[in-house]
Amino acid sequence: MGEGRVVVVTGAARGIGRASAVAFARAGYRVAGADIAALASAAMDYEPATPEDLAETGRLVEEAGGEWLAVVVDQRDTAAIREAFARVVERFGGVDVVFANAGIQGFAPLLEMTDELWHDQIDINLTGTANVLRVAAPLLVERGGGRIIITSSTQGQHGTLDGSGYSASKWGLIGLMKSAALELGRYGITVNAVIPGLIDTKLTRHEDRYAQIIRSGGNEPTGDVERDERTAADAQRRKLPLGVPWVEPEDVAPLVVFLASEEARMVSGTSFAATGGDSANVTA
Ligand code: NAP
Repeated sequence: MGEGRVVVVTGAARGIGRASAVAFARAGYRVAGADIAALASAAMDYEPATPEDLAETGRLVEEAGGEWLAVVVDQRDTAAIREAFARVVERFGGVDVVFANAGIQGFAPLLEMTDELWHDQIDINLTGTANVLRVAAPLLVERGGGRIIITSSTQGQHGTLDGSGYSASKWGLIGLMKSAALELGRYGITVNAVIPGLIDTKLTRHEDRYAQIIRSGGNEPTGDVERDERTAADAQRRKLPLGVPWVEPEDVAPLVVFLASEEARMVSGTSFAATGGDSANVTA
């Protein structure tokens, strides 16, 4: 399906980025995986990705039959992104598909929020993704067309208790995606979003996230991680029509590969969700 086409996946060190990189390799793409592979924000309270994580994605991509190039880059830095894409072009001869997926998530009520928590999420999730698009789009134009897929969230489709910075960043990405679809269609470039629900990755498997789920249900977390994890899982099972607590990264990846495909040539300016049915709780 990919027939040697070149995809750049950001946030490729683990989670949704890794699962998608592997799915792209299986579909016959050559894969460049970009990631900061280090602490992106001191305001996060979950474990950062490492260079070993990025290398492991490379191993899995190659095992799936794909060619692999790793690039370490902070997507807040436009000059560094330009250099990273130049390396991809040098290695693979061009870029056909961009999956702009990297992001972070932190929680705090507005009344207690630090400048750092707000700015890091907006700077990485919204501005960083826009940086990637602004660097990549001219390369796709040069190529005569292409695909851009960005990762938003259900939390970019509704308000989020104690998650205003994240919600604003992911809602902003929908505006970016739709505007880019309007501007780039004439060059044969489609632009869409994937909407992951609660996915089983490092970004979600920690006490702060469990506490947020429990508080959203009107209860208070205990602070005991294992107990709060069980309570959050039960709440998710009850909330999601498909009855799972977490959705797997591998459940999101096929949407990304479809949106990158030739078959999706008339799909642009919209979003595709894998949420275990939670999408039924948003308006459209
Ligand atoms: P993840 O496992 O933490 O993967 C995200 C990757 O992006 C990490 O390797 C991370 O590195 C990297 N990254 C962070 N800041 C970066 C930067 N400035 N430049 C380059 N790379 C950077 O999380 P995930 O769950 O797979 O999330 C992937 C995307 O899906 C994110 O945009 C997230 O917001 C979105 N999403 C996730 C869920 C979910 O439930 N998991 C739901 C909806 C949407 P560090 O670890 O060092 O930060």
